[in-house]
Amino acid sequence: MYLAKITFLLREKALSFDKLKIFHRKTSVANSAVYCIEYFQLPASKMEVMADDYDTQDILKPLVFRLHENAPAIVREVLLERGWTEFDQKEQDDTDWNLYWRNSPFRMTDHHSIKPWQRLNHYPEAVRITRKDYLARHLKRMKGAYGSALYEFSPVAFIMPNDYVKFIAEYSKERQSVGRRPGYWICKPVDLSRGRGILIFQDIKDLVYDCTVIVQKYISNPLLISGYKLDLRLYVCVTSFCPLTIYTYEEGLVRFATEKFDLGSLDNVYAHLTNTSINKYGASYKKYKEGIGCGCKWTFSKFRSYLRIFGVDDLLLWQKINNIVILTLLAVTPLPVASNCFELFGFDILIDDKFKPWLLEVNYNPALCLDCSIDDTVKRRLLHDIVELLNYKEIDTLRQNEMAGSKAVRRRVPWRTAGPSTPEEAPGLLTCQKVATSNSASQPALKAARGSIHKVASLTKKTVRAHPRKTLTSQLREKMNRPKTSSQAKNEDKNKLPAVHSPCSSAQLNHWLPTPDFRNCKISTHPYFLSDKDQRPIRRVGDFVLIFPFNEAALQASRDGTDVKSIIKEINKLVSKQLLSKQQNTKKGVGYLTSV
Ligand code: ADP
Repeated sequence: MYLAKITFLLREKALSFDKLKIFHRKTSVANSAVYCIEYFQLPASKMEVMADDYDTQDILKPLVFRLHENAPAIVREVLLERGWTEFDQKEQDDTDWNLYWRNSPFRMTDHHSIKPWQRLNHYPEAVRITRKDYLARHLKRMKGAYGSALYEFSPVAFIMPNDYVKFIAEYSKERQSVGRRPGYWICKPVDLSRGRGILIFQDIKDLVYDCTVIVQKYISNPLLISGYKLDLRLYVCVTSFCPLTIYTYEEGLVRFATEKFDLGSLDNVYAHLTNTSINKYGASYKKYKEGIGCGCKWTFSKFRSYLRIFGVDDLLLWQKINNIVILTLLAVTPLPVASNCFELFGFDILIDDKFKPWLLEVNYNPALCLDCSIDDTVKRRLLHDIVELLNYKEIDTLRQNEMAGSKAVRRRVPWRTAGPSTPEEAPGLLTCQKVATSNSASQPALKAARGSIHKVASLTKKTVRAHPRKTLTSQLREKMNRPKTSSQAKNEDKNKLPAVHSPCSSAQLNHWLPTPDFRNCKISTHPYFLSDKDQRPIRRVGDFVLIFPFNEAALQASRDGTDVKSIIKEINKLVSKQLLSKQQNTKKGVGYLTSV
């Protein structure tokens, strides 16, 4: 809506940015001009296009989103905020959209008929890790194949009723071991969520179930803050399973139980389960809880500050969490090859009192409802960053193959020959220094525009015509083209992954090329999650940090199908390095993971 209005102002009202300013003051849009640039997904030269060529309908087409029923309201809100318009099935052609968001999987035909300008929010068969029994089975297989040392992050689990005999054997063994207190177990229906149907027990006589469940070892020594149990909801975005490309989100939600943890009351869900969907109905939810506050959520940022106040260096913790994410996703590869889709997963991580992170489950469609202001802050920004990650180009607004081929031309980036490369590790979640220049590595002009747009007083259509070279965008472009300072250049270098793509042997290329429909298109394109500059996954987009591939070898091993064995070898090396660095720091007296 705002975009339509801005476009109108630009076209009909003589392209006055003063008018835009008045408009955004009236409409309380933070910066209308930035919205224009953001909407067009830059470059700044587009502002010039708008100024010089503002009659061009095509350029001014907005991006279009399509929502399936029950898609979260915040998705619509964020996309409208960004100037997108909603798909109208009656008015628009069936392919006339850029993003299709739904809560359930797409049909394979949707994947096969995908167009270069489109993205789908689900990957085929992503449910392979989001159903509790599937996940347990995959992780068990990986444990068998690659050793329990690496895969001991998920609590021992049995799928019932199939594994009943195995469970009884384990249960009895534990009971019979002398001097060991009998442990606790948690029973969860495999395809329910939000804490529904969960039962915690110590004695097998209390175990009852009437559907397929997993019975999992209950982590009975969780990290507590002021006596309250907590877990982490970590957002993970996979932009491709082949080649595997994983981003974790630096911000996230810490979810608290709202009553104090007590092993003496196993049936108190408010003390043992951290689901907001349960705790928001608890008597203590709205009350101020000492050490926690009201409600049941913190942001990761607050959690990190908390740990640091207590002298805990959380670096190794986040590294371990990254490893869990990679190892879990590796367990479900290969998934069917599909282009232009992405999957947002919610990883639930529980930390125990020794600071060991445990994977509880992986969520499909992590909740995007807004229960409190913390949700709003985290999830709104998350969605904005997802859209950034989807890397739309100006040409995607056209939504036409022919137009794309002849007019607005998406530059083909040639496949590069492997050059001399220095393997460089991708930054770990929350551990990397924020790169000064890189809120969105793919969008320098947006950043430049953000910085400079306020300085541009006003620009009328007349001025544009009379002085075509002195447009708003030429000023922006000038600014962008100014030689970089050495620190800027350094930061950009830091962001680069070394070049690895070899010239296209067709077998190699197949994994990077889109589905057949793409090949028939007039335009040539490359996977959206690779940067135009070097055809590498972009290392940071907003608060999304690339965690896989994490080095050159991992990139190579995931390029032609996923060579899990080689990747595991690399992860083993990485883990050894992380441990070594922990030991060195412990010797130096840096307090790593001590209890709070
Ligand atoms: P759901 O899909 O129903 O949310 P989860 O596996 O996420 O199921 O479990 C719900 C909650 O139960 C978790 O958020 C956590 O607080 C608690 N929980 C689940 N599994 C365990 C476990 N193995 N040990 C300790 N707590 C657990």
